[in-house]
Order: sequence, then structure tokens, then C-alpha cells
Amino acid sequence: MEPPRSTLPPPRIAVLGAGITGLTAAWHLQRAGLAPVVFEQSARAGGAIGAVRRDGWLHEGGPNSLLEGSAEVATFIDELGLGPRRLYAGPEAKQRYIVRDGRLVAMPASPGAFVTTKLFSWRAKLALLGEPWRRRSPADAEESVAEFVVRRLGREFLDYAINPFVGGVYAGDPVRLSVRHAFPKLHALEQEHGSLILGALARRNTSGGPKGRIFSFPDGLEELPLTLARALGEAVRLNHRVLSVGRTADGWRIEGESAGVRSAETFAAVVCALPAGALAGLTFANVPGGERLALLREIEHPPVASVFTGYTRAQVAHPLDGFGVLVPQVEHRRMLGTLFSSTLFPGRAPAGHVGLTTFVGGMRDPQLTQLDDPALLRVVQGELEHFFGAKGAPVFTHVQRWPRAIPQYTLGYQRFKDAVDAVQAAAPGLLIGGNARDGISLANCIESGRRLAEAVAQQVAPTVSR
Ligand SMILES: Cc1cc2nc3c(=O)[nH]c(=O)nc-3n(C[C@H](O)[C@H](O)[C@H](O)COP(=O)(O)OP(=O)(O)OC[C@H]3O[C@@H](n4cnc5c(N)ncnc54)[C@H](O)[C@@H]3O)c2cc1C
Repeated sequence: MEPPRSTLPPPRIAVLGAGITGLTAAWHLQRAGLAPVVFEQSARAGGAIGAVRRDGWLHEGGPNSLLEGSAEVATFIDELGLGPRRLYAGPEAKQRYIVRDGRLVAMPASPGAFVTTKLFSWRAKLALLGEPWRRRSPADAEESVAEFVVRRLGREFLDYAINPFVGGVYAGDPVRLSVRHAFPKLHALEQEHGSLILGALARRNTSGGPKGRIFSFPDGLEELPLTLARALGEAVRLNHRVLSVGRTADGWRIEGESAGVRSAETFAAVVCALPAGALAGLTFANVPGGERLALLREIEHPPVASVFTGYTRAQVAHPLDGFGVLVPQVEHRRMLGTLFSSTLFPGRAPAGHVGLTTFVGGMRDPQLTQLDDPALLRVVQGELEHFFGAKGAPVFTHVQRWPRAIPQYTLGYQRFKDAVDAVQAAAPGLLIGGNARDGISLANCIESGRRLAEAVAQQVAPTVSR
């Protein structure tokens, strides 16, 4: 997008929510010469992205890493001037572990390692050879992730690969998630190539894109929203909760509340980048079908606790030589997984110490997150002692709770997308995105923010959009 050439003041655009989606949208709008105003109910920008830094420790309570899986993410980081601050996970963090029979087993990272791994039985490995010949599902059928994986790869792959992965990404349950909505790329592989294996091979040969490395920054991922918020300056209004969105003869009226004082302003367009529950709770006036968005309340968001524990190196027997470990549900343990945070990125623990981030709860065990901090820490310590030989009390702890962590793209999710699409179609100038609409990863949210800004520019100032 290029700046407009007119001398009129630029159209003002309301952006609701200063998470990564809203901030990215606002940044693109500003670059296009429009005038965004970002409303954020909390006292800080960044939404789910945030870290606690104390005494040489750094706990990223929300997302821990960003996948550079598309050229767009790489370019965005460079354009923000954050390129030189990018910290890629080192080769020592390459190894990933899965729990099988109560012990850590390295995930095979090459075809040779796959043949010899103890993670899967010979039967499961041989069954995989038949994958390219299995029937593809009809294009309009909706399957759960579990059904899809069992059909294509077999039960053991569901239990010991996909189930722990889904626990790690969504804190979710593959039986409940829709493969089409939760893993659209996987679904497309089958539809386009008839096989996951053949499709993955074909795409590897032709994509030519970035290699999909993960990264963060020296002060954690929060550097990203803080840089965006700095670039936006006074356009970001913190401690300002939006209550209603209404269409008027002059544009869009946004009513909100800040420090107990209610106010209203009019804008040329509105970008909603709120969590589903917050969006469903807004009042929409003169927006045809606006009441349909109340349906988004039904999107499930299980609770998750992110528990950071710091130990002296000598307290932990395991070399922590990898990214971390994921735990399959069939193992009946009390954690979803643990990241080896101080192996993953430097600067997460003081010298001579190690830091671990353990995730608890999710769809699998939501009630565990109800424990108070000492009880939760006892559970986590027990798990860390079992898996890594972590002895004694940690020297540093921090607990971050997410009562509504991640939207679950469950079977039937299309009805939520349809509601959003119908409202948007009936109300030009109202654009809705974010992690309940466009995918849950940070990369998805960055792309969502850019698309929202482009759509606004096209509607409000068509001469400035690409
Ligand atoms: C524990 C956890 C771990 C994760 N790990 C990863 C990871 O490693 N990698 C990855 O790619 N993704 C990860 N994710 C997912 C990713 O962090 C989120 O999907 C993403 O940050 C969502 O961004 P968003 O801007 O869409 O929403 P949010 O970050 O939720 O931002 C929405 C903003 O809207 C504000 N708001 C709400 N209501 C109102 C209102 N009425 N008025 C004004 N403002 C309002 C909120 O305060 C918030 O700041 C993780 C998520 C969680 C919870």
C-alpha cells in the first residue's frame, strides 16, 4: 500500500484490540497513510504476548516462539527494524522428545531415525507405507483430526505423534478439532495430492520459501508488540474498553469506557481484532445481523497454566538437549509438555542455571489449572523430577494462567466463520479478524492483520490499496 496523495486529513480507522493482530493491522494502516486509533482494554499492548523478567530469568507466559514459515513474517520483522534482534533457536534445540511408556523418546528427525525409533512399533511403521494409497475423503466431508489421522496414518500415530502435537499447539483434543479448520494445510495436502506423504514431498520440492525456523528476541517475543506500539505512538489508547460498535450516517461510532468515563467517537471503518468472547460481548447497533456474532461465545477456549521453574544446572540430571517434550494423553500424566526454555533461546536463565516452561491443563485436564500456585508447582515439580531428574525445590518460579487460552477450531466451526462473513458482507467498513477467525499462530495473526488493513484500505480509500 502507498500513502494517499490527497491533502484532506486521512480517514480515521478504529482498531479494536492491541494484540498482535490489531497492532499489525494498525501499523499497515498507518503505512498506507490512514489514521488508525487502537483501543485496548488492558494497561499494556501485546495481548497474549508477554514476559516476566526478574533476577536474570525470563518467563514468556504466552507464546514462546514465532515460526518464520512465510516470507511475509520475515519481511515484516525486517521492516519493523527487528531483523538484527531476531534470535533463532540454536541447533542444540533441534531435538524434540515425546513420552512413551513413561520415558522420553527422541522424535525421529530423518527417515533413517524413523526406521530405528522406539517411538513407533514395526506394525505402525509398516502401515505408514500404505498411506499414499489410502482413499481421500470427499471434499465436503468434515472429519475430526483424530478420524483423519487414524484413517491415513493409523492409531499409533494419532496417540504418539498427533495427540501430543495438538496438546502442544492448541492445548486441544484431536477428537474434538476439525481437521479442515484446525489444520487446513494438512487437509489441503490430502485434497490436492491424495496423500500426506506425497503432498509433503511435492511441496518440499517446489516451495522454495523460508525454511520455517523458529525465533524470538533477546527480551522475548514482547519486543514485537512493543515495537509496533512505539511506532503507532499516541494512536494506541490503553485502558480503553470498547463497549459497542454502531453504524451511523457519518460512519462507525465506537463507544467505550476509560477510567470509568464513557465516550464515543466516529470513524470511517472498524477493524475488530478481539478474542471471540470479547467480540461476542459487544453491542452492534444498525449492523444487519450483528446479533449473530453473539454465537462466537460458544467457541471453546480451555484454560492453560504456563509454569516456569528455574533450577541450578546441578539440580537437573537430564542434559535438556532439545526443544522440549510433549506428552501423549494415553500416557496419563499431569502435564501437556515442557519447553527447555534456556536451551531454546539464550538469556532465559542466569549463568549456571536452567529454565523450564511447563504447560498444564487444556482440554485434557482443565480442572488442574484451578489448583493454587503452591499445589500447581508441586504437580509440576513431581513431573519434572520424574522426567528430567530435577531434584529439590526450584530456585525461581512463576505461574501465568490463561482462563481462556486458545480458541478450539472444533467440528462445525464453519458456523462461526459464516456468522462473521455474513455480518461483514452486510456492513462494509466493518472488518473482523484475529485468532478465532484466521488461525491461532502468531504468523496467522500477522497475516490476518495485514489482510484486514488491506481490506479497509480498499473500502475506505481504494486509490491507496494495492
Ligand atoms: C499459553 C499460550 C501459548 C501460545 N504459544 C504460541 C506459540 O508459541 N507460537 C505461536 O505462534 N502462537 C502461540 N499462541 C497463540 C498466539 O499467542 C495467539 O493466538 C495470538 O497472540 C492472538 O493474538 P490476537 O491479537 O489475535 O489476540 P489477543 O492477543 O488475545 O489480543 C486481543 C486484545 O484485545 C483486548 N480486548 C479484549 N476485549 C476488549 C475490549 N472490549 N476493548 C478493547 N480491547 C479489548 C485484549 O486485552 C487483548 O489485548 C499461544 C497462546 C497462548 C495463550
